[in-house]
Amino acid sequence: MSTPGFTRTTQFEALRRIAAFSAALRGHELAAWREGADSAVAICLSCGLTLAVYGSLIEPAMEGSALEAHCGAERSKAA
Ligand SMILES: [Zn+2]
Repeated sequence: MSTPGFTRTTQFEALRRIAAFSAALRGHELAAWREGADSAVAICLSCGLTLAVYGSLIEPAMEGSALEAHCGAERSKAA
């Protein structure tokens, strides 16, 4: 149950906030983050697109379709 690397927590938290903000700018409404060892993934409640952040100290990164596409792009398919 031990969690090494507490020093990166603040940076990781900041990265997640930036990613969530970027997704929100595109209209996404993210569900809670699902956290792994070195990454966290969130899914949009509206369209199902995802985004992920990676908490590497050397090269923190974020990626995902929710950072590239606007929310609602998937919805038009079902209409
Ligand atoms: Zn969305």
